[in-house]
Amino acid sequence: MLFDSHAHLNNEDNTPQMLEELIETIERSSLDYVMDIGFDLESSRRAAANAERLSWCYAAVGCHPHDAKTMDEQKLEEIRTLASKDKVMAIGEIGLDFYYDRSERDVQREWFRKQIRLANELKMPIVIHAREADQEVMDILKEEGAFSDERKSWFPKRPDPEGFASGTPGEADDARVLLHCFSGSAELGRQYVKMGATLSIAGPVTYKNNKKTVAVVDAVPIDFLLVETDSPFLTPVPYRGQRNVPPNVEYTARRVAEIKGLSYEETAQKTKENAKGFFGIE
Ligand SMILES: [Zn+2]
Repeated sequence: MLFDSHAHLNNEDNTPQMLEELIETIERSSLDYVMDIGFDLESSRRAAANAERLSWCYAAVGCHPHDAKTMDEQKLEEIRTLASKDKVMAIGEIGLDFYYDRSERDVQREWFRKQIRLANELKMPIVIHAREADQEVMDILKEEGAFSDERKSWFPKRPDPEGFASGTPGEADDARVLLHCFSGSAELGRQYVKMGATLSIAGPVTYKNNKKTVAVVDAVPIDFLLVETDSPFLTPVPYRGQRNVPPNVEYTARRVAEIKGLSYEETAQKTKENAKGFFGIE
């Protein structure tokens, strides 16, 4: 009944045995889907292979800003080839990270732009990683046409029962741009959703002192929210401190339900439908 919209089964420290155990844990849980997200060429290959092998697994392929320094044109071509596989549904995770600065900022900018262009050429959803770079991520997305009318015309509209995004109850444009582990303000979140983006909420919403993400969940209708683990990172309460696994997305969904005054079941179901819509899964 749950969709973990952002996980790294493909993480390089998952040994083959750990991966098999993780798969068993997932198959025993209430998860219906996991999106395995690439962060460089090798991890994108592993994500695509996991998606090919596991019925409940889908993949995104791309290069994270941390690993932007490993990119070249040849690797971009390989990512393009991977992106054409059946169960590869998005380009990501791509973006800017000016907190860790593991790649030079200009190198991060270059590969962020090139991968948005790739997603536009292939008419695919985009998964964004942004840290300490909110304004520039938005500026680059706009400049590269991630919210253009043309891009929005490629994707069916999405439900907007309250008229939050479009102004009129009914349907809203969908640019298929996902802000993963959204950590911006409620105001920025609102602005993004009105531009056609979707927000994904991760484990930190369960942390006691995180009022900012609680405000985001409060401000944005459930129709525009997904839930994720970013496992093996960002473990939610009550397992904070341990290695994160996709079934823990349940705790994030429970917290979102509590904030929105919805039942857990309703929240799990709705965020699953939202994620299927976003990634274009039948
Ligand atoms: Zn990630």
